[in-house]
Amino acid sequence: MNPDPAVEKAAKLIKKARRALFLTSAGMSADSNIPTFRDKDGYWRNFPPFREKGLEAQDLASPWAFRNELAHAWAFYEWRRRNARENRPHEGYEIVNRWITERFEAAFVHTTNTDGYHLRSGCPEDRVREVHGSMWRLQCLDACCGDFWEDLAVPLCRLSYDTMEASEFPLCRRCKGIARPHILMFGDAEYVGHRWQDENFLNFLQKPADVVVLVGSSGAVPTNDYIALQLQERGARIININPDPAANAIARTEHFLPLKSQEAFIRLDSLLDEV
Ligand SMILES: [Zn+2]
Repeated sequence: MNPDPAVEKAAKLIKKARRALFLTSAGMSADSNIPTFRDKDGYWRNFPPFREKGLEAQDLASPWAFRNELAHAWAFYEWRRRNARENRPHEGYEIVNRWITERFEAAFVHTTNTDGYHLRSGCPEDRVREVHGSMWRLQCLDACCGDFWEDLAVPLCRLSYDTMEASEFPLCRRCKGIARPHILMFGDAEYVGHRWQDENFLNFLQKPADVVVLVGSSGAVPTNDYIALQLQERGARIININPDPAANAIARTEHFLPLKSQEAFIRLDSLLDEV
């Protein structure tokens, strides 16, 4: 690999850092073949029956869909659970986990992804906040209580690929009504959240971070970009990893690495003993 000054400078920042925050979004999972559904053509290709009905991803990812198009709404998530199970976290996740446990005094992962790949790859449970929830946990559709629970079963529902309709839905453990993914969906007032993860993240933020690694964030969901800016105001340096140069519009960091996530972590990791 040719030496790249930008990657070397970023590696130096990571090497010097004592407290690090990893802010991961869709581009982190894309290298593990997890579709983002922002690419509409890909979405329609995977779900032809939804095209006939004009049901877009944001329509299905909503409590409205679970009340009015239940078979399609669960089909969408059942398909995604199967896809996530068939694929697996790439090497970049393992590198982040190793850095978290061996390199830093303290480090944390704040992810907008719902595929559960940080936890599945072995990230310590108290070091992750899945801010939009996880497809591997369920809650009551009517939020009859604040409970949520893990369910790793694949398949979870029956799924007809012809009609893209699910059946035999999971039920709420308490009221026996319909259960839904423990995910913050569109127009969602009933997501019960994850207080323990929230508190762990707030505890981490009690002290400033030296370095913030922003990975695969899309301008469409800039949650992580704004967290990066807040920490920059408190002295953190931002490293932004994204193959799309337009993705640096919010963070505007000089440490912008126009790379896919897996490649970026492999290259950074290989440099840590040299810089
Ligand atoms: Zn219930």
